[in-house]
Amino acid sequence: PTADPAAGQAVKAADRAHVFHSWSAQALIDPLAVAGAEGSYFWDYEGNRYLDFSSQLVNTNIGHQHPKVVAAIQEQAGKLCTMAPGFAVEARSEAARLIAERTPGDLDKIFFTNGGAEAVENAVRMARLHTGRQKVLSTYRSYHGATANAIALTGDPRRWPSETGTSGVVHFWGPHLYRSAFHAETEEQERERALAHLEQVIAFEGPQTVAAIILETVVGTAGILVPPAGYLAGVREICDRYGIVFILDEVMAGFGRTGEWFAADHWGVTPDLLTFAKGVNSGYVPLGGVAINAEIAATFAERPFPGGLTYSGHPLACASAVATINAMAEEGIVANAKLIGETVLGPGLRELAERHPSVGEVRGLGVFWALDLVRDRATREPLVPYNAAGAANAPMAELAAACKKRGVWPFTNMNRFHVVPPCTVTAEEARAGLAALDEALTVVDAHVAG
Ligand code: PLP
Repeated sequence: PTADPAAGQAVKAADRAHVFHSWSAQALIDPLAVAGAEGSYFWDYEGNRYLDFSSQLVNTNIGHQHPKVVAAIQEQAGKLCTMAPGFAVEARSEAARLIAERTPGDLDKIFFTNGGAEAVENAVRMARLHTGRQKVLSTYRSYHGATANAIALTGDPRRWPSETGTSGVVHFWGPHLYRSAFHAETEEQERERALAHLEQVIAFEGPQTVAAIILETVVGTAGILVPPAGYLAGVREICDRYGIVFILDEVMAGFGRTGEWFAADHWGVTPDLLTFAKGVNSGYVPLGGVAINAEIAATFAERPFPGGLTYSGHPLACASAVATINAMAEEGIVANAKLIGETVLGPGLRELAERHPSVGEVRGLGVFWALDLVRDRATREPLVPYNAAGAANAPMAELAAACKKRGVWPFTNMNRFHVVPPCTVTAEEARAGLAALDEALTVVDAHVAG
């Protein structure tokens, strides 16, 4: 990148004049002005280049500016920019086919949305209408989006300011051995106790009132929580027993992130509904959706589905999904994510854990990893308290700053550092990122007890 600080200052000044940012106190933020991006990197106007270890918001699975996807958007723009959802359009039909071919089991009908939260909203709507029931169960330690139902389902503090108290949402504890809610010491205990807990919640809520259970297949923002073997199959069995719709939210875990097309593929589990967004087209144009099984699709065969969006199945978004999925298949990008996880990130992060006392646990798969950072390995006290802000969050802010200084763009959440590069990341890039992280972690080691 070539430096042009004056241009960067102008871009930032224009941003501060009129752009209102998400999740932020507007007066306290200082957004980086970005000049460009390519592959695993983006750069600012000062001449600094960053290895994108965040994939933005864990969505650029195919990296930045993939030439085939850029060309497909340009070509579609020249042909047909927009057309209402009621029409049959080539790019939309082809995107639906490519997605349906990859989703598990009989999830063969695709309802398109503009992103993940709308996918969750519509999956919940389908489940409620299909069952005639109202309640939806979701886990603490989850994120499902920022619209009304999606934020009510969310099991992290972003829910608190938006709670209405009449959402019909019930939260329960999912499995998480390192911070077990069940005093479990083995994966088997965690699985059995988490399933027994879920059954008890259903019994006390009344099974006939529960429309759906929604889970992130591998929990993303709330900690990269990989479920113990047999847990998802157990939830599937509970849903079948009580006529509850099983929704898997693959907005973050889907489209290669875990080293399979969908995370559900790791455990051979088929939900009734599957939500996707992000990696479906790496966010080049906003797109999300719900993959629907035959039974729920049949509910809306003779009866209209009461939901829709002006931009459902937008041609530019769908054309970019077609090009993304085809490029991922042609270039072995899902297999690359798996290989990088098994040969570089997994072993490399475990090696960092051996040398840095601040690393309590390493967990993940594919290009979807977390370091759970602690003050004390014996007590597992988190490096910063739950939902810490300001001074209480200083160690995590220092870690993020130390990474940026070394040219690596981090993804942090509470006491965790997530390593979530694009699925296209090379072994060399991944190693360079780990080397920078190795240096940066010495900053937080200083906060460790003893
Ligand atoms: N579901 C999951 C698992 C997510 O990670 C996210 C976003 O991070 C969402 C839903 C919401 O997606 P969006 O921000 O596109 O609305």
